[in-house]
Amino acid sequence: MQLVLLGPPGAGKGTQARRLARKLGVPRVTTGDMLRGHVKEGTDLGAQARSYMARGDLVPDDLVVEMVRQRLEADDCRDGFLLDGFPRTEVQARVLDDLGPPDLVLYLDVPGDEIVRRLAGRRVCQGCQAVYHLEHDPPRRPGVCDRCGGTLEQREDDREEVVRERVRRYREQTEPLVARYRRRSLLREVEGTGGIEVVARRLDAVLRAEGLVPG
Ligand code: AMP
Repeated sequence: MQLVLLGPPGAGKGTQARRLARKLGVPRVTTGDMLRGHVKEGTDLGAQARSYMARGDLVPDDLVVEMVRQRLEADDCRDGFLLDGFPRTEVQARVLDDLGPPDLVLYLDVPGDEIVRRLAGRRVCQGCQAVYHLEHDPPRRPGVCDRCGGTLEQREDDREEVVRERVRRYREQTEPLVARYRRRSLLREVEGTGGIEVVARRLDAVLRAEGLVPG
């Protein structure tokens, strides 16, 4: 089962991907988390990716593609995977077709003004990467992760001016993939507005309809 979660920044891909991967028993391959890990650890890739990420630009295809290729070759991806944040360009989509073409693409969409609102209130645990929202999904204690006690911080690229650049990149480079997968009848559109549970139920309904989880 090779799934892709597609959608603009702030659509809730990360939150839903965690849940879906658990439910389906496949690893979640999240390129944003992987790249942030490289930046934090100070690897060569991290050093190369850092400035692109900080200004809301996409990291060059060759770097991301190589990272994903290695990850998908790992043993735990043999029976399937859930990609979150990849592919983001036509080049990446073509590479994915060679590595392991998706069986299904779940497209989570939210309107533009909602994106900025969501990302401005987003806080991420520096320990376990759990995601919170100051209004919609606040932690029990301000600034502290419910799960691991880690510190919650705003991502550097969730500042408003960087968010606008990320949305621009999305519209130019990633949104065209919607048509690509629709043409191949792989696309399932799921409305990303509303709370986490509401969106989760919509995704579950699609998975049931596709026979990927028991009805
Ligand atoms: P995300 O956490 O998915 O919003 O990704 C954060 C940042 O990582 C993006 O703004 C890009 O700079 C970079 N990034 C993540 N995935 C990709 C990808 N598939 N291709 C290029 N850049 C990526």
